[in-house]
Amino acid sequence: MIDIKSENELKLISEAGKIVRLVLVELKAAARPGIKTADLSNIAEEVIKKSNARSAFLGYRGFPGAICTSLNEQVVHGIPGDTVLSSGDILSIDVGIEKNGYYADSAITVPIGDKVSGNALSLVEVTEKSLHLGIEKAVEGNRLFDISNAIQAFAESHGYGVVRGFVGHGIGKNLHEDPEVPNFGKKGTGPRLKNGMVLAIEPMINEGGYEVEILSDGWTAVTKDRLLSAHFEHTIAITSNGPKILT
Ligand code: MG
Ligand code: MG
Repeated sequence: MIDIKSENELKLISEAGKIVRLVLVELKAAARPGIKTADLSNIAEEVIKKSNARSAFLGYRGFPGAICTSLNEQVVHGIPGDTVLSSGDILSIDVGIEKNGYYADSAITVPIGDKVSGNALSLVEVTEKSLHLGIEKAVEGNRLFDISNAIQAFAESHGYGVVRGFVGHGIGKNLHEDPEVPNFGKKGTGPRLKNGMVLAIEPMINEGGYEVEILSDGWTAVTKDRLLSAHFEHTIAITSNGPKILT
């Protein structure tokens, strides 16, 4: 069942969303050649703590990090650690927090330094644009897979692979709620969208094929062909004024 949020709940999710945004702004500024992904995680933990919030990821099904840091061919769920960023990398940073019982979730992919290839920059741009095209379809009366289809059509028109193994989700009192929000699907199908629904829409787009596999750490998802992957995510609400980005 897809939960409809009250005005007050939307306010609480929005407060969590502001903290997620604050963390991502800080991490984007800090993500430079020479820094370790663990350093980024430490920065995130500081901001989250100062905001009297809690990482939604740390301990989630045993996940060992406060944020996810997924480098280059890593798709999602990379664990922060001793990996040092180099100029030319792209780094996906995923942040989820809980405050006052409500969750928000958002991700960006950041080009590191000035040696990032044109191909990598294009993948990052197309992935971000696909997120916004999906969000535009998040209006009352549309079908859920209108969102999915907008993302898929745009990404595939650039020859990219749309990840099937991971999807977006409803969010609110829990990090993951109904419905699943795939980044692929048929226009005009899926549940009818209603005002008060809150969704985390999160295209994961691969430079090559869509297949992924999980590394031996049990978490890090990588592209099967080891080509690049990018990830952008926002928590959004469907409102009478159209889609509202909360992160
Ligand atoms: Mg996320
Ligand atoms: Mg998510």
